[in-house]
Amino acid sequence: MFVSEKMAREAADLLAFPNLEAVDVDGVKDHYRVAARGCHPDAGGSAEVFVQVDRAKHVLLAWLARAPQAAPAHVMRSCARCDGRGYMVLSSGLPGRPGLRRQCPECHGSGDADYDKHGLA
Ligand SMILES: [Zn+2]
Repeated sequence: MFVSEKMAREAADLLAFPNLEAVDVDGVKDHYRVAARGCHPDAGGSAEVFVQVDRAKHVLLAWLARAPQAAPAHVMRSCARCDGRGYMVLSSGLPGRPGLRRQCPECHGSGDADYDKHGLA
C-alpha cells in the first residue's frame, strides 16, 4: 500500500503521536492499543472511529516499512590531497609569482576522493 507523507501524518495525529518523526513500530502498537481501547465498538465506542484508528495503524506500519528514501549512492568526498580542487599549486619559487597548477595525481583532477574506486573521469 502506498502511503503518502500526508496520510502518515494524519494517521500519526489520529493515534496521538506528537509528530510523524516520533512514530516507530512499538509506538504504533502501544498507541493503537490505547486508541482502540477507547473506541472499540464492543466497549461502546464508535465503529467509525475504530475503523479509522485501525486504518491509521496500518498506514503507519506501511509508512515505517516503506522503502528508504533514495539516498545518493555515492556521496562525494573531497580529495584530501588537493582539498577537492582537483589541482595542486606548485610553488614558482619566486616571490610574488603565482605557482603553476598541476592536476592532482590523487584524484586526477576530479577533486573526488573516491576517484579510484568509482573510476570517475
Ligand atoms: Zn585531488
